[in-house]
Amino acid sequence: MSVPPELAGATLTIDLAALVENWRTISRQVSPAECGATIKADGYGCGACEVARALWEAGCRTFFVALPMEGKQVRDALPQAIIYVLDGLLAGQADFYIAHDLRPSLVSPEDLGEWADAADGNHKAAVHVDTGINRLGFDRAQAETLAGDKELMRRAGLCLLMSHLASGDDETNPSNADQRDRFNALRNLFPGLPASLANAPGTFLGPAFAHDLARPGVALYGGNPLTGKPNPMQPVVSLTAPILQVRDVAAGDGVGYGATWRAERPSRIAIVGVGYADGLLRAMSWPALQDGPAKVSIAGQPAPIVGRVSMDMITIDVTGTDRDHACRGTSVELLGPTISVDDWARWSGTLSYEILTSLGRRYAKVYSS
Ligand SMILES: *Cc1c(COP(=O)(O)O)cnc(C)c1O
Repeated sequence: MSVPPELAGATLTIDLAALVENWRTISRQVSPAECGATIKADGYGCGACEVARALWEAGCRTFFVALPMEGKQVRDALPQAIIYVLDGLLAGQADFYIAHDLRPSLVSPEDLGEWADAADGNHKAAVHVDTGINRLGFDRAQAETLAGDKELMRRAGLCLLMSHLASGDDETNPSNADQRDRFNALRNLFPGLPASLANAPGTFLGPAFAHDLARPGVALYGGNPLTGKPNPMQPVVSLTAPILQVRDVAAGDGVGYGATWRAERPSRIAIVGVGYADGLLRAMSWPALQDGPAKVSIAGQPAPIVGRVSMDMITIDVTGTDRDHACRGTSVELLGPTISVDDWARWSGTLSYEILTSLGRRYAKVYSS
């Protein structure tokens, strides 16, 4: 059930039109390859079913989740979609995948053998080959053995060859071309099998990385796929919350747990009811880990988060903010047009991926389109 905004404290707004625009941008970029969408971890915190429906309407047909339960949720929303489960075939669960028409991305000969026995040529799957990240996937020798067993491939219903980039966000990293070359060499073992290599950053590495199907994730949700460069994507997530109280503090007074910030002059402090339990990481506490202090925006003016981030609250120095705007009940922008998930990521020393997937569960969630 959705939470009423007036009772939830903070409102998370997901702009589905911007999400679709981001998917179209990447689709054009990989064309004529197909553009799918990675919607694992509840659509990077944005709501897997809502995201999947919006992208389906825009023409997206292929979706990637991590786990079979995530796949079932998307299946219930989209009866016709193609859904791949990236974590492979969980041991003993082939019947569940078959019942919900989920395609495992098979990561090992064990996965593949179990799937082939259950599917017996009647259900499809991808095979995931490792090209250097050393995470999931067949190694080169295992892939060669598989390629020599046409009957096993038929029983496993193989319809896609995929691999995953380790450093796609760094276009100067030579491992990208190296992985692509290894992937292309493996493709030669499986003539005619469609291929997929690029995640969102990979789609920015040029046509040689597009193959037949792209699997973008983070960029759809507005995260910057290009480390250290301007973000080509539209923001999707905004977060607003009202000021709960404004208090005056005297010069020298400490604010928050441990008094890690002290007023240098008589100051006004606004308290907003969002904290680390809502995904506003404690690492954003004054003075923040990188490029700090972390800020919010009040009526278009930036104001710094001072003191420690608590579980349910932050304290903001509004001494320099218009009094009319910095008062009980006025709305503060925590994420939105002026503050991005990548800003939060820098302030807290992490990635937009972790910010998005840490977004809290007690927000009122609103979808705009
Ligand atoms: C998460 C994931 C993706 C999407 O990655 P982004 O960097 O968010 O675009 C694609 N493929 C695999 C195998 C993944 O695990």
